[in-house]
Amino acid sequence: MVYLDHAATTPVPRDVADAMYEVLTEQFGNPSSQYGLGLEMKRRVGLWRKTVAEALGCEPQQLTFTSCGTEGDNWAIQAACHQNRRLGRHIVTTAVEHSAVLASCQRMESQGYEVTYLAPDSQGHITAAQVLDAVRPDTALVSVMMVNNELGSVYPIAEIAQGLKEKNPQTLLHTDAVQGFLKVPFAARTLGADLIAISGHKVGGPKGVGALYIGPRVRNPQPLIAGGGQENGLRSGTEATAQLSGFAKAVELRQEHLSQTLSHMADIKAYAARALQTIPDLILIGDGQSPHILSVSLVGWPSQNIVNDLGAQGICISAGSACHRGKPSHVVAALHLPKKVAGGVIRLSFGPETTQSDIDACVEALRRHHDSRLPML
Ligand code: PLP
Repeated sequence: MVYLDHAATTPVPRDVADAMYEVLTEQFGNPSSQYGLGLEMKRRVGLWRKTVAEALGCEPQQLTFTSCGTEGDNWAIQAACHQNRRLGRHIVTTAVEHSAVLASCQRMESQGYEVTYLAPDSQGHITAAQVLDAVRPDTALVSVMMVNNELGSVYPIAEIAQGLKEKNPQTLLHTDAVQGFLKVPFAARTLGADLIAISGHKVGGPKGVGALYIGPRVRNPQPLIAGGGQENGLRSGTEATAQLSGFAKAVELRQEHLSQTLSHMADIKAYAARALQTIPDLILIGDGQSPHILSVSLVGWPSQNIVNDLGAQGICISAGSACHRGKPSHVVAALHLPKKVAGGVIRLSFGPETTQSDIDACVEALRRHHDSRLPML
């Protein structure tokens, strides 16, 4: 198998699976239990929080574990709107956010909020000036993703945070950093965002675990999930200890080799971009700066057919976000590309395990697809 879909999810290294296995079978205590097994788990949850917090550049007490990136995004948006409910009912976001953010914003619309969806240019860029221009005295929340999951575009979060201080210091800033964490360098303590959502399964951890950074300007955040008061009263539900151990182990492994991994992914991306452009009718889409995501179009060839054809040969790529399955991607639509270009957009995404021969196999399969089938768009 050739796996070129690391933005959808990542393989779990053996050390991560081993750490989880031990927690599932031997150290299986409930961190709330008062005997040794439980107390040991409580201690370990503290260590795992410390590991993830260090990688995110924040204090452990500023990091709350969640069940996924989607939960973090939902919670951040609801908590920020709740805090600023007297300031106003306006949200600024972008048209190219992940559906975790878009659907949360739509929910706020149904509760009377007005949402401004900023459009990117044809390269996928969103500028800080564009965001700040849309901010008003009644803007409760700005939510802009750190790295776009389909294009790899990196958005200027620090610049937005800086500008917000002048434009409206009460507006809270959330960033969905699910594709940015351990891919582009940043530290929560200096970034300036108030809420930062991350996810385990994009960095070699298991699915079903994530975390939300809650900065000092967020006062008494309303829990999304009420119950037994775990996570310092902020996120109830018995801690998913095996997921947490896997998340922390994965973060530790990525941190250990971070600069090599990032330059490896950037080299692979550059190699792929060069090789793919030798295929007739293939063009690059956007100029995403993230090291792990490359978006291209085989102009005139429907992307779903490409994905199916390559999938049948054991080559895993995506026709946009894995969350859209089959439906046209709202991100590609927002670029306002000609129909033949938009219809042929595919995404390749890379991880530490990706090799040049993975890329060669994909390029050859795409060339065969181009040569053996008539364009249909
Ligand atoms: N945000 C972005 C940018 C993503 O790429 C994803 C997953 O694809 C999510 C949020 C959702 O994360 P999770 O799968 O952990 O819910």
